[in-house]
Amino acid sequence: MDVAVIGAGQAGLSAGYFLRRSPLSFAIFDHAPRPGGAWQFRWPTLTLGATHNVHDLPGLPLDDRDPARPASEVVSEYFARYEAAFGLDVRRPVDVTSVTDGPGGLTVATSAGEYGARALINATGTWDRPFWPYYPGRETFAGRHLHTADYRGPDAFAGKRVVVVGGGASAVQALLEIAPVAAATAWVTRRPPVWNEGPFDAERGRASVARVAERVRRGLPPGSVVGATGLTLTADVRAGIAAGVLRRRPMFARIVPSGVVWADGTEFATDVVLWATGFRAALDHLAPLALRGPGGGIAMDGTRVASDPRVHLLGYGPSASTIGAGRAARTAVRDLGRLLVPA
Ligand SMILES: Cc1cc2nc3c(=O)[nH]c(=O)nc-3n(C[C@H](O)[C@H](O)[C@H](O)COP(=O)(O)OP(=O)(O)OC[C@H]3O[C@@H](n4cnc5c(N)ncnc54)[C@H](O)[C@@H]3O)c2cc1C
Repeated sequence: MDVAVIGAGQAGLSAGYFLRRSPLSFAIFDHAPRPGGAWQFRWPTLTLGATHNVHDLPGLPLDDRDPARPASEVVSEYFARYEAAFGLDVRRPVDVTSVTDGPGGLTVATSAGEYGARALINATGTWDRPFWPYYPGRETFAGRHLHTADYRGPDAFAGKRVVVVGGGASAVQALLEIAPVAAATAWVTRRPPVWNEGPFDAERGRASVARVAERVRRGLPPGSVVGATGLTLTADVRAGIAAGVLRRRPMFARIVPSGVVWADGTEFATDVVLWATGFRAALDHLAPLALRGPGGGIAMDGTRVASDPRVHLLGYGPSASTIGAGRAARTAVRDLGRLLVPA
């Protein structure tokens, strides 16, 4: 095939839409069981109204915008409708284990066999790589460690003493849900949280995208677009601040069997540590292509890997948002058309 697309989330489906309208042959691989990209796995209490905003895919708007429904359901239904509307034949569940380069072009090794491709659009998101920072004593903890990737709502925390780690929207949402049922909660972050008056608007979105774009142009690890937008002061958040639920403490120094301990020796007795510490790009299968540079990231020129014009990364760095993914897909397919189709 001309282009192998890995991942059928917002980014991969957007790429499929533009590839359908191009002369390039392609296939989309996804290891998840159903349509929906990472959204199918998000916790049921993350309603559509609680997301930053789920942007339309190109060519077919998301018409069910009931803010009370779980985003996982709404988006999965939408993506299934989208795949059918544009005849996008997603091969699933197919896990891509590696991509290698050779004289005949790229070889995409999958759980369903090997495929040859002239170029690659990688759109594997971040959900498959939850980030767990290390703190001394982590392995000695007698309670339970959980990541937001495993969070299914507040019920599992009833009567427990819970530490939530992380300064993003997921931490705030979890605290507001858990505090009413937990025995006690503590919120710890590395830096003081940045609260934003007013809604999450285009201006703020653009500023954080620009910041991440500059990082990947320089070959640094991207950081998160959605995480870089700051925290919105909703009515619920204001109430949480007033009630002391969102009183932030600095990071603890270490973990002991019975809880977490700060540098001054203060301990918070803990049953569960919820790590709301984000995700990293799921790119392990691209390791044989040796794309990472000395800065620890992959130097990018738009959506194209600077060192290999056959490889585009969508949903990486500045395009890691539902709006960014669609725009990036158009650019990537146009670039690959120029590279692969003789003028
Ligand atoms: C909790 C949370 C809330 C968010 N809320 C918002 C929001 O409100 N608005 C917004 O714009 N963005 C939000 N984001 C960012 C969001 O992840 C992106 O906007 C968007 O959903 C990512 O789309 P994607 O296509 O890049 O990745 P994904 O939706 O993650 O899709 C990647 C796909 O690749 C597949 N895959 C991965 N590895 C392989 C492999 N090796 N082989 C085969 N298949 C593979 C996965 O199964 C998955 O289906 C949020 C992120 C998180 C974590």
